[in-house]
Amino acid sequence: MSELPVASNRELAAYARRAVLAHRGEFALVVGLQALAAVAGLFAPWLLGTLVSDVTHGQDTVLRLVLFILGCLAAQAVLVRLAEYAAARLGEKILADLREEFVSDLLGLPPETVEDADAGDLITRTTRDIDQLSSAIRAAIPATMTSVGIVCFTLGALVLISPLLLLPCLLSVPVLYGAARWYLRRAHQGYLRQAATYSRLTESLAETVEGARTVEALRLTARRMDLVDESIATSYAAERYTLRLRNVFLPLCDTSYALPVAAMLIFGGTLYLHGEVSLAAVTAGTLYASQLLNPLDQLMFWLDSLQSAGASLARLLGMARFRAPAPTPVGAGSAAQGDGARSAEARTTGARDIEVRDLRYAYQPSQDVLRGIDLTIRQGEWLAVVGPSGAGKSTLAKLLAGIYTPDTGGITVGGRQVAGLAPAERRGTVALVTQEHHVFRGTLRDNLTIARPGAGDEEIADALRAVDAWEWAEELGVDSGIGPGGQVLDPAKVQQLALARLLLADPDILILDEATSLLNPQAARHLERSLAAVTSGRTVIAVVHRLHTAQDADRIAVLDDGRVTEFGTHEELLAKNGAYAGLWRAWQG
Ligand code: ATP
Repeated sequence: MSELPVASNRELAAYARRAVLAHRGEFALVVGLQALAAVAGLFAPWLLGTLVSDVTHGQDTVLRLVLFILGCLAAQAVLVRLAEYAAARLGEKILADLREEFVSDLLGLPPETVEDADAGDLITRTTRDIDQLSSAIRAAIPATMTSVGIVCFTLGALVLISPLLLLPCLLSVPVLYGAARWYLRRAHQGYLRQAATYSRLTESLAETVEGARTVEALRLTARRMDLVDESIATSYAAERYTLRLRNVFLPLCDTSYALPVAAMLIFGGTLYLHGEVSLAAVTAGTLYASQLLNPLDQLMFWLDSLQSAGASLARLLGMARFRAPAPTPVGAGSAAQGDGARSAEARTTGARDIEVRDLRYAYQPSQDVLRGIDLTIRQGEWLAVVGPSGAGKSTLAKLLAGIYTPDTGGITVGGRQVAGLAPAERRGTVALVTQEHHVFRGTLRDNLTIARPGAGDEEIADALRAVDAWEWAEELGVDSGIGPGGQVLDPAKVQQLALARLLLADPDILILDEATSLLNPQAARHLERSLAAVTSGRTVIAVVHRLHTAQDADRIAVLDDGRVTEFGTHEELLAKNGAYAGLWRAWQG
C-alpha cells in the first residue's frame, strides 16, 4: 500500500500563478474594488483629525466634515461588499476549476496506482482536503486580499500625512515577522502530517467497517479497536502539535498589535509638543494605527487557515503527477521495452493476437510472482488459465488487462504494448471482469449504459440474455432502481450484471477472472456457454477453478509458481498426463 504524492511548494506557486492568470480580469476587478474600499476607509481618520484641529471654525464646517465622513464610511461599506462579492465569485470559479481538475486527475489515476493506493488517503483527499480548500477559497483568500490592501493603503496614508508617524507602526514589524517566520517554517509540514494522520484514521476505520464480519468471526474486535485508538492517538498528537504552534503564534501577534497605537500616542504627542507635526496629523495617525489592528489580526488569523488549505492543495495537486502522458505512438511501446523486432513478428501472426514475452512481475522488489512467461494467444481464441492458488493467475490477468505494467518483458496486442495504450483505447481493446463488482446507485439500465451510453432496449436485452439474466431483469424492470437505496441484488445477479456490462462495452479481448464463481456450477456452465456463443470472434481469457470451463476452452495454460508449465488443448494435456491431468482427475473424482 503506498501513499499518494504531495505537490512541492514550487508546484503550488505555479498553480497559484496559473489560477490568477486564467482569471486575470476578475482578479483585477477584485483588487481594484478592494483598493477603492481601502482608500474610502482612509478619509474618515484624516477628516476626524481635521475636525479636531478645526473644531473652532464654526458649526457649518463641522457639519460639512461630519457629513463627508459619513459619506466616506457609506462608500467604504458599499465598496467592501462589492469587493467581497467579486472575490467570492472569483473564488467559486477557481474552486470549480480545481474540482474539475481534481476529478479528472482522480478518474485518470492509473489502475495500478488505485489498486496500490491507501483507500483512506484517497477518501480524505476527496472529502476533507476539498472541504478545507473550499472554506479557504471562500473566506480566507478574500479576507486576506482585503486585509493586505487595507494595510498597504493605511501605511501609504501615514507616509502622506507625515513619514515620521510611520515609525511607531514599524515597531510591530519585527515581532510579527519573527512570529510568522517561526510559525510558517513549522506549520506547512505540521498540517501535512496532520492530514496524513486523518488519512490513516479513515483507512483504519474503513477497513474495520468493510471487514466487520471477518473481525467478528475471528474475534478481532479488541485488536481493531486498539488499531483505531492508535490512529486516533497519532492524529491527536499531530493536532496538538499544530495547536501548540497556534498557541505561541497568535498571542505574539496580539501583543504586536497593541504596540503601534501606544507608541503612536507617545511618539506623536512628543512630536506635536516639539512642533514637528500638527494635532490633526497625530489624531489621524493614531486612528490609522488602530485601524491597522483589525486587518493585521485578520491576516494572522487566516494565515493559519491558509497553511492548512496549502497542505490540502498540495495533496490535491499531488494527484496531477499521474496525469496521463501523451498516448504512446504505434510501436513505440514495444521499442521502449526492447522488443521492437517482435512487433513486426506479431503483425504477421494476426491483427489482434496477444503476444506475451519473457513477462516478469513482482509486487515486492526481487520477489517475482511471474517469472518469464511466454504465450501466444490467438485472436478469437478462448483460453483457460488454471493452476494452484497463489500461482499468479490473477496477476497475469491484471497484466494482460493493462492494469499493471510488466517489470520486464512485454504484452502486445497486434504488435502494440497494452500498457502503452491510451486509457480510452485500452478500454476498447481489453476489459477485465473479476469477482469484485459494484452496483451504482440508479436504474438497471443506468448500470448497463455506463458501459455503452445510448445503448437501446434491444441491445440491453441481448446483453442480459447472453448472461442468463433476462428473466429476473425483465421481472424486476430495466428502469427499476438498484444499488444503494434501491433493490438489493444478490451477488450472483451482480456478477451477471458485470458480465452484461462487459458485453455492452464490447472490447476485442475479454478477461474473466473467476467471473462466474458466485453462480452455482450448473448456472455458471450454462452462462459460460451462452457467453461463448455471443463472444465468438473475440478473444476470451478466463481464469478458472472449475475445470469444466477449461474443458470447453480452445486451449489451456497451466500456471504454477509464476511459470506456464503446460499449454495445449484439454485432450493434449490429458494425454500428457502431467499437472493438468492430475487436476482434472482430482476435479472429476
Ligand atoms: P488465487 O487462485 O488464490 O486467486 P492466483 O493464482 O490468482 O491465486 P495471485 O492472486 O496472482 O494468484 O497472487 C500471486 C502471488 O502474489 C501470491 O503469492 C499473492 O500473495 C501475491 N499477491 C497478490 N496480490 C498482491 C498484492 N497486491 N501485493 C502483494 N502481493 C500480492
